[in-house]
Amino acid sequence: MTRLIFLGPPGAGKGTQAKYISDLCSVPHISTGDILRAAVADQTELGKKAEFYMNAGDLVPDELILGLIRERLMADDAKAGWLLDGFPRNVEQATFLDALLSEIQQPFDCVVNLDVPDEVIVARLIQRGHEQGRSDDTEATIRTRLQVYRERTEPLIDFYRSRQQLVSVDGNQTIEVVTEALKKIVQA
Ligand code: AMP
Repeated sequence: MTRLIFLGPPGAGKGTQAKYISDLCSVPHISTGDILRAAVADQTELGKKAEFYMNAGDLVPDELILGLIRERLMADDAKAGWLLDGFPRNVEQATFLDALLSEIQQPFDCVVNLDVPDEVIVARLIQRGHEQGRSDDTEATIRTRLQVYRERTEPLIDFYRSRQQLVSVDGNQTIEVVTEALKKIVQA
């Protein structure tokens, strides 16, 4: 049973690594960013509300995210484990997740923090913007997202570390080397 939370700044490689590790462990990769991007592409009610915040590089309000995560983690395919990527993003979401996981009796294994210096992140995100055409990977939005990360999400590192639930991995290495480090963690 694998239940992991991936934490790290935008551009740390969470998505790439989470996809690989979720395949390896045969558990669903649950990315709130992917769910939101699909909702925006389909112009659902959620998508229409989320789009504005995403394009600004800001967090989508919790009330749009919490119900969605609850439903996703209670789905049948999540009973065998999961890998969370992009959630939680702030202390309120982490507190909500704690309560939800204890309610459904699904404790997580650990939080994996992908550590990458700022200069590397900005360069990577600008590159991704060119390659994938993501509308939130422009230079101004990237700076906002990094600031939002630092103010809202980074406090979760201490939150989980103080509970001895955090494992940090140096994300400033090749994709393959990071994958190997992650494999060791999930196979431990
Ligand atoms: P990501 O693909 O995880 O970088 O997410 C892209 C964008 O989706 C973020 O910049 C936020 O606007 C939004 N988003 C994704 N996950 C969350 C979340 N857990 N809470 C609030 N907003 C989110």
